Amino acid sequence: MRKKTLRDIDVKAKRVMVRCDFNVPLDKRGQITDETRIEFSIPTIRYLMEKGARVILTSHLGRPKGAVVESMRLDPVAKSLSKHLKVNVPKLPDCIGPEVEAFVNKMKLADVVLLENTRFHPGEEKNDPEFSRGLARLADVFVMDGFGSAHRKHSSAYGAAEYIPGVAGFLMAAEIEKLGSLFERIEHPMTMIFGGAKISDKIGVIEKFVDRTDNFLIGGGLANTFLFAMGHEVGESLVERDKVEEARKILQSIQSQGKQILLPHDVIVSDTVDEQSETANIPLRFLHPELKILDTGWKTTEKFAEVIRQSRTIVWNGPMGVCEYEPFARGTRMIAEEMARSLAKTILGGGDTVDALQKFAISFDRYTHVSTGGGAMLEFLEFGSLPGVDILQDAD
Ligand code: ADP
Ligand code: MG
Repeated sequence: MRKKTLRDIDVKAKRVMVRCDFNVPLDKRGQITDETRIEFSIPTIRYLMEKGARVILTSHLGRPKGAVVESMRLDPVAKSLSKHLKVNVPKLPDCIGPEVEAFVNKMKLADVVLLENTRFHPGEEKNDPEFSRGLARLADVFVMDGFGSAHRKHSSAYGAAEYIPGVAGFLMAAEIEKLGSLFERIEHPMTMIFGGAKISDKIGVIEKFVDRTDNFLIGGGLANTFLFAMGHEVGESLVERDKVEEARKILQSIQSQGKQILLPHDVIVSDTVDEQSETANIPLRFLHPELKILDTGWKTTEKFAEVIRQSRTIVWNGPMGVCEYEPFARGTRMIAEEMARSLAKTILGGGDTVDALQKFAISFDRYTHVSTGGGAMLEFLEFGSLPGVDILQDAD
C-alpha cells in the first residue's frame, strides 16, 4: 500500500512535527564526527520551510534509558542544523510540556525548532500513550523521516501518529520505494553479507532469505558465534553464547537448502582494541585463548571479494570487524570497495556500516542504494513493511 508523503498534504501555517534520525556519532568532546544523518534530513526540512510550515524536529540520540544524560543533549545537532539551513535553529530544553507548547504556539511561518532528546523520557521506548499525546499536542501533522527508527514502536516514531495524521518525509519515501522494489525480481547469484556485533538482529532476515540467496558471507562479531557453534576456539572474542543453538539451526538450514555460507578461515587478532593495537593475521585454528578476533583475515577477505565479483545482487549490513579502529578496518574497507566496483545491484545499510563508508571516503552513488537503517532495513526486507510505515496514512 502506498503511503501519503509530504507532497500529498497542505502544510502551510501548520505545525509540522518531523521525526528525524539525528542519532549521530559524537566524539569524547561532544563534537559530531559524521553529519551524514543530518544532511539526509535537510531536503524534508527545507521543503517545509519553503511551504511556510512551522517545523518542529524530534529525534533520539544514544541510549539515555529514560533519564536526562547531559552528554546526550541535542545541542550539537541544533548547531549543525543551523549551519546547514542557514537559519538559527533553537533547541528547547525538553520535548513535551507546557513550556514547549507555549514556544511552539508562538512560532512563525518557516521557523524551525529542535526538541530535546526524546529518550530522556521513559515513555518514549514504551510507546506510552500519555507521552505520545504530549508530543502530538505540539503539532497538527506528523512527518516520519527517521527510517532508521521506523522498526521500533516508540512514541516519537510511531505513537504520535496515533493521534495526529502521519505522512512520509522524503528520505522515508525514498527508502520505502527503493527497498520495496529491489526484490521484485532478484538477479542471481544473490549474495548476502552480514557482520556487526550481534546475531540476534540478523537471524530473521537470514531465515527469510535462505531460499532466494545463493551465498551468505559472514564476518564481524556475528561470525564468532557461528564459529563457536561449529566447535572452533574463539578465545576472548565477542560471542553471543545464548544464541549458539540458533546459529547451529541457521547453519543447518542454509546447508540443507544447498546454499553456500562462508565464514572466516583466517582472522585478524589482538589482545587490545584501539588505534595502536598490534595485530596478527592467523589461520583460525591457531587462535590463542587470550586473543580476540577483531577482523576477517586477508585470505578470507579475498575469498569474500571473489564471491562479490561473481554476484549480481548483493545486500550488506554490518562491518566485518571493529572498523572504528584502523588496525581492524581492512576487511570492511575491502568489502565496501569491492561492492563499489561491482556492476551488480548493491544494497547496503546500517548506522555503523554507513559510518564506515564515510570514513573510507567512498561515495554513496557508487551503490544502488545506501539505506540509513540497519535493523530497519533488515526488518523491512524481512516483512515488507515496518510499524513506522504502517502507521502512516494510505495514499488515496
Ligand atoms: P550496523 O550499525 O551497520 O547495523 P551493527 O551495529 O550490527 O552494524 O555492528 C557494528 C558494530 O559491530 C561495530 O561497533 C563494530 O565494532 C562491531 N564489531 C564488528 N566486528 C566485531 C568483532 N569481531 N568483535 C567485536 N565487535 C565487532
Ligand atoms: Mg549499529
